[in-house]
Amino acid sequence: MICKSCGLPVPDTSLVCVPCTMRKSSAALLDYQQKFLPHVAKGELFMTAPIIERVTHIQMFGAQKTWCGLDVKSGYRLKRLTLGELCAMHICQRCEQPLRAAIAETPSAA
Ligand SMILES: [Zn+2]
Ligand SMILES: [Zn+2]
Repeated sequence: MICKSCGLPVPDTSLVCVPCTMRKSSAALLDYQQKFLPHVAKGELFMTAPIIERVTHIQMFGAQKTWCGLDVKSGYRLKRLTLGELCAMHICQRCEQPLRAAIAETPSAA
């Protein structure tokens, strides 16, 4: 199906348009990430990376959510990785792209 709000295709496995849902529900959460991202960018702070169905995702700070909008449930295997380690791995692109975009927008990360 095609999302009526943004016109992007929505995968059949997803009931909602993840980018639109994320935009609406997580503007505040995204703001909250800003204070951690400079440290992430410098490799000073580990990120939690849950393995969900054999794919490594990245969890947002202060939320049981991945950057791609999945719920992080207890019982998932978690890794603690720096940004450099994550980027060297094959990880969820729907997590990596918004994370990289957010880091690029963080003024003090430069
Ligand atoms: Zn949409
Ligand atoms: Zn993901």
